[in-house]
Amino acid sequence: MFHHYLVLLALFLFYGLAGCLFQPQMTEVVSDTLSEIQEDFPIDGFGYSSNIGVLERGQVRANQSLYELLDEIGISEQVIWQVSNELKQRLGFRFLKQNQIYYRYRKHNNLDDVKYAPVLILMESNVRYIKIDLNDDILIQASAKPIKIRIRQVEGTIESSLYESLVLQGHSAGVAIELNEIFAWQIDFFRLYRGDNYRAIYEEFISEGEVVGVGKVLAAEFVYQNSVYKAFYYEDDQQKGYYDSEGNGIQKALLKAPFRYNQRISSSFNYSRFHPVLKQSIPHTGTDYAAPLGTPVIAVGDGEIVESKYKGANGNIVQIQHNGTYKTAYLHLNGFGPNVKKGLQVKQGQVIGYVGRTGRVTGVHLHYTLYKNNVPVNSVEVDLPSLKSLTESASEAFNLEVQKYTFLLGQGRILSATNNDSYDVEKNS
Ligand SMILES: [Zn+2]
Repeated sequence: MFHHYLVLLALFLFYGLAGCLFQPQMTEVVSDTLSEIQEDFPIDGFGYSSNIGVLERGQVRANQSLYELLDEIGISEQVIWQVSNELKQRLGFRFLKQNQIYYRYRKHNNLDDVKYAPVLILMESNVRYIKIDLNDDILIQASAKPIKIRIRQVEGTIESSLYESLVLQGHSAGVAIELNEIFAWQIDFFRLYRGDNYRAIYEEFISEGEVVGVGKVLAAEFVYQNSVYKAFYYEDDQQKGYYDSEGNGIQKALLKAPFRYNQRISSSFNYSRFHPVLKQSIPHTGTDYAAPLGTPVIAVGDGEIVESKYKGANGNIVQIQHNGTYKTAYLHLNGFGPNVKKGLQVKQGQVIGYVGRTGRVTGVHLHYTLYKNNVPVNSVEVDLPSLKSLTESASEAFNLEVQKYTFLLGQGRILSATNNDSYDVEKNS
């Protein structure tokens, strides 16, 4: 009886607290009420009514060009050229990627030569898209479907994989990717053990009634081989990131560039080296530094050397795996640093080689690539996790966050044992 009362009290506290604490970040998720404001021609997520045509979804094939897609919707060569230019200049659009989703509208009237309305929607993510509308003028617009955020809570025990544990409980695999990144320096997600367990509170993105993505993990706890790791998200004007309960940054920084002193960038990371005549993009997925011959090249972070050898066009190459998320590659080296051999560990700042001109190059330079989940990313622009601890002035606000989330994470267990449906904090509304 007394126990029962405690559970009720806990539920009341949880909902009461969650209600007021989460209010500012929450939007109610209502999909049914949308029909009430629909007119004869309902407006779709891209802003078109159904009289323009039937929305058709397509997927970019290998080596398919933007030219081809625009040509199919009846756009002249000259306009295509203008569109390409606009996209490049205004949006820095990277041109088509294989398997990228696009939409177009098949005309109701199928007597025309051109079967589609002059509109092409290129999805950049589940939510963000570029709209190219050539109905009257050239209209190019980067936009996003309306998004609502709800807060969800999950906990589980690893049986085979984190991914499976999440998906079996009806949560998105995206949560696994987030957790992987947050704890990348503490936990080897390729070697989880049965019985390792986790709890997390995270944002889920919803558009038109469908889950379209995972936002930030707000707080998480991972028990990995009997050690407990905690992460709390904190953000203010001066700092943002994941911290342990004492306010120490839990992610080790990678250096921005693999040099002790600033070096000039001679060629930037660029997906869209697109030639309008050749209609072909020749991406440069790395950053070139024009450093003098023999300049020491240093490891941007701790890690394991996974490659160190002469490799064709790459010349002398070193690759370092820093954790489950980040890997770096250093090309055209003149030679290797001491103790730089495949399988050995390196420390951040350790000399791994020297700038050279080996392989297929026109001059002395270092080609440096940062990989995030095995995809090359722009190391100059990417937001790298920080090693810094929270500033003193933030500690009060941060401690409140820690208390709030520690409480909520703790309640997850009681809730799941009582009622599975009450996981979602949003149901409070
Ligand atoms: Zn390069």
